[in-house]
Amino acid sequence: MSSPTPTSARPHVVIIGSGFGGLFAAQRLAKADVDVTLIGKTTHHLFQPMLYQVATGIVAEGEIAPATRVVLRKQRNVTVLMGDVFQIDLTAKTVTSRLLERITVTPYDKLIIAAGADQSYFGNDHFAEYAPGMKTIDHALELRGRILGAFEQAELSDDPAERAKLLTFVVVGAGPTGVELAGQIAEMSDKTLKGAFRNIDPTEARVILLDAAPAVLPPFGEKLGRKAAARLEKMGVEIQLGAMVVDLDYDGLVVKEKDGSTRRIESQCKVWSAGVQASPLGKQLAEQSGVELDRAGRVKVLPDLTIPDHPEVFVVGDMMAVDGVPGVAQGAIQGGRYAADAIKAEQKGQTPDQRKPFSYYDKGSMATISRFSAVMQVPIPGTKKKFETEGYFAWLGWLALHLVYLVGFRNRLNTLINWFFAFSTRGRSQLAVTEQQVYARTAIGALSALENKSVPEVEAEAAGADDTAAATESANKPTSDADATTTEADKASAAEAS
Ligand SMILES: Cc1cc2nc3c(=O)[nH]c(=O)nc-3n(C[C@H](O)[C@H](O)[C@H](O)COP(=O)(O)OP(=O)(O)OC[C@H]3O[C@@H](n4cnc5c(N)ncnc54)[C@H](O)[C@@H]3O)c2cc1C
Repeated sequence: MSSPTPTSARPHVVIIGSGFGGLFAAQRLAKADVDVTLIGKTTHHLFQPMLYQVATGIVAEGEIAPATRVVLRKQRNVTVLMGDVFQIDLTAKTVTSRLLERITVTPYDKLIIAAGADQSYFGNDHFAEYAPGMKTIDHALELRGRILGAFEQAELSDDPAERAKLLTFVVVGAGPTGVELAGQIAEMSDKTLKGAFRNIDPTEARVILLDAAPAVLPPFGEKLGRKAAARLEKMGVEIQLGAMVVDLDYDGLVVKEKDGSTRRIESQCKVWSAGVQASPLGKQLAEQSGVELDRAGRVKVLPDLTIPDHPEVFVVGDMMAVDGVPGVAQGAIQGGRYAADAIKAEQKGQTPDQRKPFSYYDKGSMATISRFSAVMQVPIPGTKKKFETEGYFAWLGWLALHLVYLVGFRNRLNTLINWFFAFSTRGRSQLAVTEQQVYARTAIGALSALENKSVPEVEAEAAGADDTAAATESANKPTSDADATTTEADKASAAEAS
């Protein structure tokens, strides 16, 4: 089935992805004499840098994820289509996407691919079930459910070992996302949840930040890394460096030390923020054009961000591998705008070989650690040096910058109000968790299993499950109301784990 593509004679620009690269490319083409079709897997543009604030109840998901079609509604030359692009045909110049059962083929004259990156588990994809990553709204909401769910289960448990396991939170990966998450989980348990439980003391929760690397926040350099680590430790976060996760299950994880010894940490709630893997669409480009990929699956683009023999195909953002360009929002924004400008210049007669190479302007980087504390690094123009600072002023700078890049006035205002509430009272307005959020991963897993099995297979399994459930039920038969509650909680945990 073909897509509702424009019928005008104007060049048709197709953009894959509604993240920083895709959205900013589309906006840059606002006044261009082209038709633009933006195909996105989600309905929204996601401001990933604030995902951890959704996971820890500071802001609502809508505030950092405005609907892409609403953001672009006044831009008449853009059509937004929802779909998961699963095929790019460089010869036929088409992209094929799927939305539920509907397959859509969209032809293009120019293609901007900005499909971003996913979490990498370094070949251990099964870890994802027990340690979700931090890339999407679904991840953030699931994580919020897991964090708060662990406290709820601990409140119901009278077994000290189980309580300790439930109140141990492990964040794997001490980059900016890991640091931000560990800091916020510590603040939430120490301040927001303090006094809200009767049988447990949330301030006794252990938050562990671990990494195989020897430093916290490696991209920020040794000095800022040390300061961030000291600040986290002051907040009670345990930092374990040189520790590589070699196994992970529902109840904990196994860590290998530098000397080769291993140890186990009992923890129900784990988060993975340790690596990235670029969109698999890069592999298709490599197979069809011979372009190389780096170890993280990023496309080693030419200096004009295109691929060999295809000056009409741009790869931008987290999918591109360009020396000196980090996988950050600015890299994607500047790449997306560069591609749009190249398309506009071509309309004015510029040929692809006349394009100036893409050059990245480093505006600096920041990471928050806690309320009133952040680290910041800004290049000093004309030198190779960087201005570094940490603490309150860096934190204020972080707030201001993130407000500027958040899309939509109302989102900025709502965020500002939530921040004011969270930072002045230590309260959080977004602590709701729904059953569907908590069980979504299990339910989706079960559905896909169903899709891949025949009816007799599914029926046979269901009968087997009934037998197992009956056996479990008789074994766990409660002897009192209190036991009954525990048994239900256990069943829920088992369902989540399966
Ligand atoms: C938790 C977290 C915190 C971060 N913090 C910071 C920070 O503080 N500062 C900073 O500068 N950077 C930060 N980053 C990095 C920054 O968000 C990314 O570098 C940036 O989002 C990359 O932009 P992009 O457009 O390449 O990809 P993305 O923003 O990831 O967008 C990719 C888009 O493509 C869509 N997509 C993917 N596959 C398909 C497909 N097959 N078909 C259709 N659509 C598809 C996705 O749904 C998404 O809309 C953070 C990232 C994360 C995950």
